[in-house]
Amino acid sequence: MTDPLILVNPATGTFELTDLRSAQLPVTDLSAHRGDGIFETVLVSVGAHGATVVSRERHFTRFRASASALDLPDPDQGLWDRVIDSLIAEVAAADPENVEFGIRYALPRGEQDANGALRGRGWAFPVPVDDHIRTAREQGVTAVSLDRGFDAYIGSKAPWLLIGAKTLSYAVNQAAGRYAAANDADEALFVSHDGIVLEGPTANLIIRRGDHLLTPNPEAGLLSGTTQRLIFDHAEELGLSAEYADLSLDDVKAADGAWYVSSMRTAVALRELDGNAISVDQTLTDRFQEIIRGR
Ligand code: PLP
Repeated sequence: MTDPLILVNPATGTFELTDLRSAQLPVTDLSAHRGDGIFETVLVSVGAHGATVVSRERHFTRFRASASALDLPDPDQGLWDRVIDSLIAEVAAADPENVEFGIRYALPRGEQDANGALRGRGWAFPVPVDDHIRTAREQGVTAVSLDRGFDAYIGSKAPWLLIGAKTLSYAVNQAAGRYAAANDADEALFVSHDGIVLEGPTANLIIRRGDHLLTPNPEAGLLSGTTQRLIFDHAEELGLSAEYADLSLDDVKAADGAWYVSSMRTAVALRELDGNAISVDQTLTDRFQEIIRGR
């Protein structure tokens, strides 16, 4: 099977392998109409010692936190681990040369039956590391800053905004990406209404200032990234400190290096922001990519 899809029944703790190309999601599922559900995308790196799911545990911890934020049932880690491992085995059997790919897994709200009870099936399928990602890794990206429309640190006062949960509602993020493209940039950089730098639509930002790695505080209103935390966990061996900070756009422009980091991209240099060139630190870009990809 070249395009495997696994459908997961959380109620029974079972799953089945099927074909990504055939119709699977009932249109009545609330994830389809409301974006009401959660997901994760993990990078799988295949080396001499087999396949590694990068930051597997960090992703699942966030998946559980997202489920809790949305009042979804607590996902069963054993079940989802079996799903991910089965999918890896399918990809490896179909294409033994495939040494790097992603797996996207999701838990939707489901559909409401006649009695109002909710039931739904989760899913998982492989996603390729495509040319777009490869080009960004090699050449870096440009970005334009965009107002996110809320003040920093609003999340604790407004938990219904689900800031910090990885939900299936990405229409705003997609729109920001299109807006960036229409303005000749590869990426958007969200900034809070009161001027604090937050994140990209699908990535976190890290900058280097001297011996310090700095990244926006997740509490300011963004998704706490697994890749950012992986890099921070390795900062000491790179001879750097790692800190959360409130950054302005000028801080980013004046940085000694800046990166968009996320599971599939790994770490890509942010080389221009709002038309201003940013220093590119190629050595650290390479180190970050090696650390994330485990090679
Ligand atoms: N921020 C947003 C909004 C994202 O969608 C993502 C990833 O998809 C990230 C940050 C980076 O998170 P991670 O490193 O866990 O992939």
